[in-house]
Amino acid sequence: MKEFQGKQPNQFQLPDQISRLGELAYNLWWVWEKEAQKLFTLIDEHLWEETYHNPVLFLRQVERSHLNAVTYDLFYMETYQRVMNKFDNYMNEEDTWFKEKHAELKNWPIAYFSSEFGLHETLPIYAGGLGVLSGDHVKEASDLGLPFVAMGFLYTQGYFSQHITEDGWQEARQSDLKFDNLPVFPILKEDGSPITISVDLPGREVHARIWEIRVGRVPLYLLDSNVEENNEEDKKLTARLYSSDLDLRISQEIILGIGGVRALRVLGYNPGVWHMNEGHSAFLSFERIRERVSGGQSFEDAQQSVIQNNVFTTHTPVPAGNDEFPLWLMDKYFSNYWLELGLDREKFISIAHRQLSWGESFSMPVLALGMSKYANGVSELHGHVARKMWQFLWPKKKVEDVPISHITNGVHTGTWLARRLKDLFDMYLPENWWNRIDDPAIWENVIDIPNEELWEVRKHLKRKLVAYMRDRARQQWKNDGVHPVQVVASGTLLDPYALTIGFARRFATYKRAELILTDMDRLLKLINQPNRPVQIIFAGKAHPADEPGKLLIQEVYRKVKASENGGRLVFLEDYDMNLGRYLTQGVDVWLNTPRRPNEASGTSGQKAALNGVLNLSIMDGWWREGYNGKNGWAIGEDKDYEDPAIQDSEDLESLYSLLENEIIPLYYDQRPSDKMPVEWVQYTKECIRTLAPRFSMRRMVKEYAEDLYLPVIQAKSKS
Ligand SMILES: *Cc1c(COP(=O)(O)O)cnc(C)c1O
Repeated sequence: MKEFQGKQPNQFQLPDQISRLGELAYNLWWVWEKEAQKLFTLIDEHLWEETYHNPVLFLRQVERSHLNAVTYDLFYMETYQRVMNKFDNYMNEEDTWFKEKHAELKNWPIAYFSSEFGLHETLPIYAGGLGVLSGDHVKEASDLGLPFVAMGFLYTQGYFSQHITEDGWQEARQSDLKFDNLPVFPILKEDGSPITISVDLPGREVHARIWEIRVGRVPLYLLDSNVEENNEEDKKLTARLYSSDLDLRISQEIILGIGGVRALRVLGYNPGVWHMNEGHSAFLSFERIRERVSGGQSFEDAQQSVIQNNVFTTHTPVPAGNDEFPLWLMDKYFSNYWLELGLDREKFISIAHRQLSWGESFSMPVLALGMSKYANGVSELHGHVARKMWQFLWPKKKVEDVPISHITNGVHTGTWLARRLKDLFDMYLPENWWNRIDDPAIWENVIDIPNEELWEVRKHLKRKLVAYMRDRARQQWKNDGVHPVQVVASGTLLDPYALTIGFARRFATYKRAELILTDMDRLLKLINQPNRPVQIIFAGKAHPADEPGKLLIQEVYRKVKASENGGRLVFLEDYDMNLGRYLTQGVDVWLNTPRRPNEASGTSGQKAALNGVLNLSIMDGWWREGYNGKNGWAIGEDKDYEDPAIQDSEDLESLYSLLENEIIPLYYDQRPSDKMPVEWVQYTKECIRTLAPRFSMRRMVKEYAEDLYLPVIQAKSKS
């Protein structure tokens, strides 16, 4: 592998003693290294909040006098030295998991393609769970020392920010990101001009430049069509995520799949594994075949060798998540390209042809499945659902023999664990626990944490959440001219000591955000008990083109605004990774009510579990594997329904009765000294002990490496 070194701009005027802060700002390692963040907050905590935790913008704006001051501060300079040493050790580490186990395979990097990456709130190039999973995957690949390179988009506008009108209607606000102020840098030629790649779109060539984000040891390359050579329309091709305009969408996927391969070639990579994270990047197979056909191979031979090192992960059974392009669109975009593959139209279309209710389609997941050596779903149940869903592609196989396995999702511990809890674990878990976070034995020691100390941290995190919400509400009231009732709906009346339930996720209809609000009489009785108040915090965006999703937000918001709930129902605008962190660390119970089996995995509940927040969830996705009867609660049964109406009503009954008979009493009644709910704390410990290792990103990426990546690379390095 040729390590391509992009040039990092060094435009900060920093005192010599702390000049390496500039380097730190341009490597996202600080995202999961809490002490590194302190190097910024110790200089100016207010500015750190104001820049939304963006170190590049921070260093641009910080007062010189503040910088000078810390150079005289002994504590600061000690911290600085320690963090920089840690950073250097991390970047140069020789005994990573990969180097120790598989050093001989280091020359065959894994190329990981995804249409979104959720790395940090300051980089809004993700929409939801898929992006956060990709971001966590890249961070963990870095931690484990995998030879790894990632490819995606630097959307010039990013994902929208959400504003809710008084009437509960979601407004999407878009603005241009200022790349100069973000921890990204352009890949340039010697003469300073951008390196570009190009793809053919109907009647023209479209160019894209390449940006880099350093994620620890891993480079993430991002494509951006906003370049001089393109016409005005094409400059906007990569402006936003997931357009519902088919031309835009297929153009993006051509840029990602075909352009992404070209970009890696320009950068000098020869990957040993090509991992398509969801079907958006599936055109990459065509480009890899085209490379071989243009070198003289037949299509069939080229296809056979390309398949050997492709890996595909499917993430959802929901149709909106599986791209299907009408055939006229394929004709429009690929009629020249299929000739380059040595194919005619019929042969080309047949590769991913599918008959759907609305007509014939070219199916991106079918393409990806057909072109991959290994394919997997993202939980045990989802693996089963995916095998059933795609069985028609293997008509001779029984469902259980369809070649789609599963690797259950996880979350990146360093990114999602609250600092105060990490400090507590540092005291009570074995010394090297941070290097063994996927080892269940390490977590046995959670039992030894004194109840009072764990409970103190849990209370602290809830107070922090409530304080943050009030602060946001105050800003809204001051700056946005919102109606007073919206200030109440943003959580100003929340009680930092009341049992608090969180529900935050994309407002896709299958997630049934409205389920808990179905029987308002029963719910109001339950939340308004004088000595046992319950409060529920909702958050989440609907895709801007998803009218049912937006109507759902409106329905929830109207109930949130109603005065009879006493301000105990709340809707927080603009759910993102920052709010996600506050919520999954700060509430007591994490609620998840998807219509089984549509939630392929879900990961927000895993973040909650890591922080000792108890899951109250449908037996779907990861929770079917995580629930053990003592570490949270399962809503409904682990079974299939024919009739969704019956499913909804049974789930609803189960949800209310768990709250009434188990959860609220456990929280309020079991307090011998009128202080700490001892039984609740036992649940908390059981939750962390059993779930933190198993649903860690470390366990997950090791499984990807051992079950998928390494077999592929080993076969390749032998051939
Ligand atoms: C973790 C996360 C998600 C995914 O959570 P689900 O449980 O899959 O809904 C979505 N959005 C944000 C901002 C997240 O942090």
